[in-house]
Amino acid sequence: MPKKDYYEILGVSRDASDEDIRTAYKKLIKEWHPDRHTGNDKKVAEQKFKEIQEAYEVLSDPQKRAMYDRFGYVGEDIPYSHESNGYDGFGFDDVVRNFMNEDIFNIFFGGQRTQSRSAGGRGQRSPRRGEDLNINITIDESDVFSGKNVNIDYERYEECENCHGEGVEPGSKWVTCSKCHGSGVVREERRTPFGVFVNQYTCDACGGSGTIPGEVCHTCRGLGRIRKRTSTNINIPAGIENGTILRVPKRGNAGVSGGEYGDLYIHVNIRKVSDYEREGDDIIANVHIDYVTAILGGEVTVTLPNNEEVEIEIPAGIQPNETVVVRGKGYPNVRNGRRGNFVAKVIVDIPRKVSSRERELLKEIAKMKGVII
Ligand SMILES: [Zn+2]
Ligand SMILES: [Zn+2]
Repeated sequence: MPKKDYYEILGVSRDASDEDIRTAYKKLIKEWHPDRHTGNDKKVAEQKFKEIQEAYEVLSDPQKRAMYDRFGYVGEDIPYSHESNGYDGFGFDDVVRNFMNEDIFNIFFGGQRTQSRSAGGRGQRSPRRGEDLNINITIDESDVFSGKNVNIDYERYEECENCHGEGVEPGSKWVTCSKCHGSGVVREERRTPFGVFVNQYTCDACGGSGTIPGEVCHTCRGLGRIRKRTSTNINIPAGIENGTILRVPKRGNAGVSGGEYGDLYIHVNIRKVSDYEREGDDIIANVHIDYVTAILGGEVTVTLPNNEEVEIEIPAGIQPNETVVVRGKGYPNVRNGRRGNFVAKVIVDIPRKVSSRERELLKEIAKMKGVII
């Protein structure tokens, strides 16, 4: 969509005051009123008239003007699709950009979207990309080791099969709105002794789109899309981390007026059963050993959440909180599947009670070492 210079259209400078803008608008709108022109000039005048109205609508509204100054676009000219080029200069990545478009729009328009104000019939309504959807899923900690194939059932808008998203019955089409003559804006003039008061508002017959359906699609009631239950199959990769967001392209809501489908974002939570911590692909685990094992060395076996056993060789004389690394027994790397390490942090258990036999032997050791007991 070509970028329009609203300031140029109204013939004012970029720092024009509200009063300047109003004055310029009043003068131009009189000059270019289609009723004052005939023949070919009338067509030109109609176009000019519409442009002037559009420019004034934006520049007379502080919020819209601020947005226009910042982005060069307002309302329907904001590209929704991350594939369009409107925001490329901002350098957001795909994910951020998708959310940002939504946010920027909501900030400036309170979440309400207006449709194209361009006049004309079918096909001239501006396409709007479908909304992205977000779904939370929870997998078990054991699934992190193997990955998991998950079937997700959810509801979304799909393109209406009867009208293929057009919103009108097959054979019918969109026609120019008779109330606003396709401008999307209705103007009311009131003449009073103090002058002419102009009231301008978004056309309620067409919602500002400038077009109305000839015969509304009976299946979708003109929406062009229908809410349906659907399912999608997704492979959760092994090694995934808690809180990862996976993007499934085009599995969000259907677009409107030929806009493409939004994306589906799957937020993956992991149901933990262990108290392992994760550092990169390494498992960091507290491993309890007997004080005798600490002194003499030995072998300890732990079982991972996926029931895999890890044998840990404890060297003789290990100290509390020292670590023993078992290579290749950590989490799989989410990209290449290569396993990280199991890092055992040794907790030496001192028994609160010992058997009488054990006590006897310990006393003997004590005597040998000259420990006073
Ligand atoms: Zn209308
Ligand atoms: Zn339909």
